[in-house]
Amino acid sequence: MNNPSPPSPSPTKSSTLAGNYFISNYPPFSFWGEDQKVEVELALDSEPAPGAKLGVYHHIPFCRKRCHFCYFRVYTDKNAKEIQAYLDTTMVELKALAERPLIRGRKPHFVYFGGGTPSYLSAKQLTELTDRMKAILPWDEAEEIAFEGEPGTLNAAKLAAIKQVGVTRLSLGVEHFDDHVLEINGRAHRSGEVYTAYERARAENFAQINIDLIAGMVEETEALWQRNIEETIKLRPDSVTIYQMEVPYNTTIYKEMKAEGKLVAPVADWQTKRRWVKEAFAALESSGYTVKSGYTAVLNPSRTKFVYRDELWSGADLLGLGVASFSHAAGVHYQNLTELEPYMAAVAAGEPPVKRAFRTSPEERMIREFILQMKLGHVNLGYFTEKFGVDIAQRFASQLEHLSAESLLNVGKDEVKLSRDGLLCVDTLLHEFFLQQHRTTQIV
Ligand code: SF4
Repeated sequence: MNNPSPPSPSPTKSSTLAGNYFISNYPPFSFWGEDQKVEVELALDSEPAPGAKLGVYHHIPFCRKRCHFCYFRVYTDKNAKEIQAYLDTTMVELKALAERPLIRGRKPHFVYFGGGTPSYLSAKQLTELTDRMKAILPWDEAEEIAFEGEPGTLNAAKLAAIKQVGVTRLSLGVEHFDDHVLEINGRAHRSGEVYTAYERARAENFAQINIDLIAGMVEETEALWQRNIEETIKLRPDSVTIYQMEVPYNTTIYKEMKAEGKLVAPVADWQTKRRWVKEAFAALESSGYTVKSGYTAVLNPSRTKFVYRDELWSGADLLGLGVASFSHAAGVHYQNLTELEPYMAAVAAGEPPVKRAFRTSPEERMIREFILQMKLGHVNLGYFTEKFGVDIAQRFASQLEHLSAESLLNVGKDEVKLSRDGLLCVDTLLHEFFLQQHRTTQIV
């Protein structure tokens, strides 16, 4: 006879329930629609705003294995020929975009390879892909080329190729240093591969090496989390990014919860995860790091930048290439088709491979930039007066007063500054600044 499953705990205010916690854009994706696809064409046919920066995001949707907490569009069964066909399609997409009035003649200020697993590509595929991208939109003025790498895919030749194509920031998806935690969460790599990849990457002299961690993975413990912090500090990366574990609906973890009738995810509650990040930030600060956002600490703030993040959060145009990619063009948000075959078929037919879009109003753009910049821990009030003609202290007076009374932030003459506790739960606070019609319930 099988042992019965342990009873599911009752949800508390702080329990990790299924759903997205992290806010990456505004208005929320659920408000974007197929009926606004025409807005993308209008945006791409318009002239760029004076001084607007341009970025390119290339989505590589292939991974060795699907992590149990992953909700991205990823494929684990594609062969080299299929991957090449996908890369070819993204270049057709880029070429068509580069000829549109919004993009013509502009050069990217930043380029980001995300996934999926960009380092799943072979050195040859990567070199050919980037040569083709540069021939369409030259990178010679780009301040940052960022690249996400899965440690187990980073052999010496590949790292040399990643460096050679011009990558300035290599972000290592370490997530955890304990092999059992990595295994139980479905990660493809183990800690041995992290140390080897890190050493090889250092030997390549990347301008910035970032380590990604997740606080509160399945079977995380106090002792294991402390060890994560210690191991990270020993490696001394240029920057560290820490996310608090969330369990979105289409993850393997959620499917198991649903099958077992559980409401609470089998991970630490939000209070514990926040405390873990707080402890990690404190330890990093004692070792010379500076906390630069709700998720990042950097060793040398004058040298180490996150250009992609900062430009995106200040309204830059972003061309998202590939399946399911997100773009922002002249005030219009859009997402590409989210399945590989329809995406490739649309590009081959010369049609925009767009699934849904949303044209933002000036007020929504102001709110978007405000809430995204709040994640940095401080917002410059003069920036909003100058760019949007809005006095933030007045516009959001009641929300700021309420959050200030809770000691989560402070409103000064020139800036709104979050306290460390406010910064650690910033994604929860941001809902207060949404327009009424965009608010959804969140209890974390
Ligand atoms: S490596 Fe990243 S994109 Fe790939 S399955 Fe894991 S979490 Fe998802």
